[in-house]
Amino acid sequence: MTDPIKLHPPTIFLQALLDCITDDITPLSAPAMNEKGTKLFGAAVLLKSDLSLVLAGTNHESASPLNHGETWTVSQFFNLPVEIRPNPKDCLFLSTHEPCSLCINAIVWSGFDNFVYVWDYAETDKLFGISGDLEVWRDCFYHGPEHDYGHNLTDVGTMNGEIAKDGSAHKVELYKRINPKFVARSIQEILDAVPSAEREQWETKLQKVKTDYGRLSPTFCQRTGVTQ
Ligand SMILES: [Zn+2]
Repeated sequence: MTDPIKLHPPTIFLQALLDCITDDITPLSAPAMNEKGTKLFGAAVLLKSDLSLVLAGTNHESASPLNHGETWTVSQFFNLPVEIRPNPKDCLFLSTHEPCSLCINAIVWSGFDNFVYVWDYAETDKLFGISGDLEVWRDCFYHGPEHDYGHNLTDVGTMNGEIAKDGSAHKVELYKRINPKFVARSIQEILDAVPSAEREQWETKLQKVKTDYGRLSPTFCQRTGVTQ
């Protein structure tokens, strides 16, 4: 497994990811949002060595509920001719949103040993109005006390606006972010690794890219006040 945060200096890594969202994922997601039932989720595969793009993809749930941004991208990756398809172990997997349980499995079974995401589950729920990933974790996988579920790094009470019955704030891990199969990192963690003197300017760059991509979603615009 590879910890993506250790492969490149954080500013070089961030620039490559932001460029990929703007230049490679957005041109695919924008037209796809005109398809009925498609959601704003994109993904891309980059080479670990030089952060160049292998391919990008976007959600196509209009055609099948299994066509999430990540599963679609994985499918396209394996449609590449074998002569030019890199080993997944040599690749980074970028996802605009924290992958759901289906997509984590797709990433693992395909041989990728890492992923980086932009918005986490709680933000996907709050800003985009999409809570299906959290619901599947809660309803199908979670075994603990009834009030003790939620985002892996977020207080349980924030999930779907529910408040823990006893008012307490619990934190549970929905999946292991570092495990023998993969390392999962948020783009925020990469930003946090930027030297403090430069962090503010990179925070501004990150926010601009997030806003520009997010505005493709009418719900995001409605909930954040961003113009479409
Ligand atoms: Zn998914």
